[in-house]
Amino acid sequence: MPVPPESNEDQPCALLVHGASAVVSWDPEAPVDADAVAVHGGRVLAVGRASELRRRYTPAGELDAKGGVVAPGFVDAHVHPVFASGRAEEFDWRAQGVDYLEIARRGGGILSSVRAVRAAPEDALTDTVVGHFRRMMRHGTTACEAKSGYGLDPESERKSLRVVAAAAARTGMTVYPTFLGAHTVPEEHRDVPDRYVDLLCEEMLPQAREDGIARAADVFIEQGAFTLEQGRRYCERAKELGFALRVHADQFHALGAVEMAVELEAESVDHLEALTDAGLEALAMSGRTWAGLLPAVPHFLRQKADAPARKLIAAGVPWFVATDFNPGSCYTPSLPEAAHFARVRLNLGAEEALRGVTEFAAASLGAADRGHLRPAPQETWSCSTCRTPSTSATRSARTRCAPWSRPARSSSSRRRCQALPRPPRRGPAAARAARPSRRSQRGAPRAARRAHAPAAYPG
Ligand SMILES: [Zn+2]
Repeated sequence: MPVPPESNEDQPCALLVHGASAVVSWDPEAPVDADAVAVHGGRVLAVGRASELRRRYTPAGELDAKGGVVAPGFVDAHVHPVFASGRAEEFDWRAQGVDYLEIARRGGGILSSVRAVRAAPEDALTDTVVGHFRRMMRHGTTACEAKSGYGLDPESERKSLRVVAAAAARTGMTVYPTFLGAHTVPEEHRDVPDRYVDLLCEEMLPQAREDGIARAADVFIEQGAFTLEQGRRYCERAKELGFALRVHADQFHALGAVEMAVELEAESVDHLEALTDAGLEALAMSGRTWAGLLPAVPHFLRQKADAPARKLIAAGVPWFVATDFNPGSCYTPSLPEAAHFARVRLNLGAEEALRGVTEFAAASLGAADRGHLRPAPQETWSCSTCRTPSTSATRSARTRCAPWSRPARSSSSRRRCQALPRPPRRGPAAARAARPSRRSQRGAPRAARRAHAPAAYPG
């Protein structure tokens, strides 16, 4: 005979969400026929049948899901939100066969985004990023990684990360900021790119660390961006400073970036459309570096090649799905749309795709309090609802999801922005002593395997 549920009337319950056709909690203990969630103080108290939860709690408020699916708030683990204007016209140009040199001549490409961010006043740029976050939230995203990377000089990169924090505070988006000063080599350093790597390692990364406004550092290792040797130098310096590492790797060419990232215990390697068997083996042996799958990007770039998702999953590599929302190669801020592309292009199952944009994406950011609806002692509550009896991942790009309840407002804006704690100030001598010596080339670059010609370096 089943034991009657324990009465818990003394425990306050602020909200009972009920009437769901399903509750996606990723909790193996949750009943399979759950249609309700009890919440208080940002914490999930319980997932179960509404009738049972009403016996256990006296909720102060109720919300009718009206037959929608209640899922964890979506977590976008690869986003470039700090741009001043879109470059959708490049999509048309590529469709007409215009190559990347001509796109650059017409004023397009990644460096056009850099010029726009540098020129934008901080308040205006913040307003723009607030708009980007609100669009993401309308599609169910409640937390995201947010990269800088369109400033590419010391002050513009700092400005970009300040903008991320300000936009997070204004919107309620939970943000995991990433320093991407190594997105590409800016125009003023194109003649001697190593000087820009020097600037990154000796000034910009330490400044970002001291400011405490980024938790991770990222680099784009690719022909036309940074070499493997430059990327290694940058990553080693970032790791030494205490940043988590996230790496744009094997998007168009396999240059050994995946193997290098695994060696340095990077948090994630993202893109992987040109992943080699050696890279796959390195990831499988590691088991701790996440594979970031960004299937909307090949769609917008009209590429045939996709990341080998099924091979990665079969090899036991941890993985997640993200948008890569940016002005050049991914115009959608919608994780349901990215999940749809993961279904169509990467052959993921519906549950896999949904897990990839919730639990797995959060775990890749070290955010154990996000991406699930499991009862927990800390704040975990953020949910999205999908107006469909099936999961959002099975729907087309037309699916609209909305965050019902943003994380509790008890957090300060600083806490909302999950950055590194500010380190103690160091004197110039200590800073010089901590600087790495210029390393000789380690691990000659692997022979590049050309996966397909990039139409442009469009990120
Ligand atoms: Zn990216």
